[in-house]
Amino acid sequence: MDLKQYVAIVHDFPKKGIEFKDITPLMNDGEAFKYATEQIVEYAKEKDIDIVVGPEARGFIIGCPVAFALGVGFSPVRKEGKLPRETVKVEYGLEYGKDVLTIHKDAIKPGQKVLIIDDLLATGGTIDATIKLVEQLGGIVVGCAFLIELTYLNGREKLNGYDIKALMQY
Ligand code: 5GP
Repeated sequence: MDLKQYVAIVHDFPKKGIEFKDITPLMNDGEAFKYATEQIVEYAKEKDIDIVVGPEARGFIIGCPVAFALGVGFSPVRKEGKLPRETVKVEYGLEYGKDVLTIHKDAIKPGQKVLIIDDLLATGGTIDATIKLVEQLGGIVVGCAFLIELTYLNGREKLNGYDIKALMQY
């Protein structure tokens, strides 16, 4: 299945000069969504995953059906102030300024094998921060899976040493 036909390219969103890859048409189509989920499950199958971790908000949308299919749990990574119990946090750089991502302190047990999932890999900043959170808790990142990789932003280099899977590349 050619998944790219389910990605809408939106010019100048969220600001001028950005070509936003909108994955909502893919989510809207039952067959395409199922196919994409199955492709990631296939990648994850041999990795003996204990838990899936995904950053808000689109990481939840892709991560949860994969976790369900693998029969493992899902742990959300969220912006600061959103998770109700004790968290660990990581600061990461944005194009302008910085942001903070958090995860519940008891979300991962030391030694657990973690699959990180998000919709899209751009510069890699979000996933780099997510990896740091998982590792702070003693988790082992055994793979990172995405629907889309923007290869020209070199996120894969930033995540050097980690196993990366992307279903589509631009
Ligand atoms: P990074 O941290 O790798 O630079 O950016 C990736 C994060 O920004 C992901 O969480 C992703 O959801 C969001 N993102 C950046 N650009 C796009 C885009 O064109 N389309 C979508 N769907 N998400 C994007």
